[in-house]
Amino acid sequence: DNAQPKKPDWIRVKAPTGEGYKKTRDIMRTHRLSTVCEEAGCPNVGECWSQGHATMMIMGEICTRGCTFCNVATGRPDALDVFEPGRVADAVQKLGLSHVVITSVDRDDVEDGGAEHFAQTIRAVRRRSPETTIEILTPDFLKCAPEALEVVVAARPDVFNHNLETVPGLYPSVRPGARYFHSLRLLQRVKELDPTMFTKSGIMVGLGETGEQVRQVMDDMRAADIDFLTIGQYLQPSSKHHGVDRFITPDEFASYERSAYGKGFLMVSATPLTRSSYHAGDDFARLRDA
Ligand code: SF4
Ligand code: SF4
Repeated sequence: DNAQPKKPDWIRVKAPTGEGYKKTRDIMRTHRLSTVCEEAGCPNVGECWSQGHATMMIMGEICTRGCTFCNVATGRPDALDVFEPGRVADAVQKLGLSHVVITSVDRDDVEDGGAEHFAQTIRAVRRRSPETTIEILTPDFLKCAPEALEVVVAARPDVFNHNLETVPGLYPSVRPGARYFHSLRLLQRVKELDPTMFTKSGIMVGLGETGEQVRQVMDDMRAADIDFLTIGQYLQPSSKHHGVDRFITPDEFASYERSAYGKGFLMVSATPLTRSSYHAGDDFARLRDA
């Protein structure tokens, strides 16, 4: 479907410029770190990077999955880099982050799905920057033994985020290879393993879902004790990716936000340019200090 709806004026993106932006970019380059900001072509990169906020993507730039909304290359990834956790920790310290978001590609080729690598990265950041709060955005560990998740939770990130991405009815066309209830259960298990850990999830809208389906996902998430929710407009990275069904209006986003707070989420971000990691640090600090 190549006939895409025209971008409305509320999807405005500022060009990345300025010293802060350059400093973040340079630290990423010298530490040979990938960011989801760049890999996903995130529209907020100018704003986030100028504030020293970036989402690091560990375990390589090639993913074993091929979600149809995602700009990351699919293929056979390289072996895990044992020095990467140290480089992430060094970059976090140099950026002076109060909150860091660390995500990864999916590694169905590794037996534990990269769980130990995630845990080592969390521990390395914690050692170097004990004051920095750590948010991880993980793959689904679908093909792994249950212990994989336990290894990650035992490293004690402050926020455990895993995105459901869309409503269950759209999984076959949007997130093939993933299972809606597996992802939901993953987050529920995190809470069972460590009730003090905040859990977070998010979806994109504008992929063809209905408002009723979105509110059902909210109910499912609350039934799994998920604390934080993000909802943002899906943007098509290229004409090869899943099409945009429509642009959700700012009023509809505001209505989703009200519904979500009504259902008991502790923190909700629902705006056209909301991304999983958008303003994650500010929001978390606000909640912690409340
Ligand atoms: Fe990066 Fe997230 Fe900001 Fe986008 S919203 S630029 S992915 S930190
Ligand atoms: Fe992209 Fe994540 Fe899907 Fe891989 S698993 S294709 S990185 S969304």
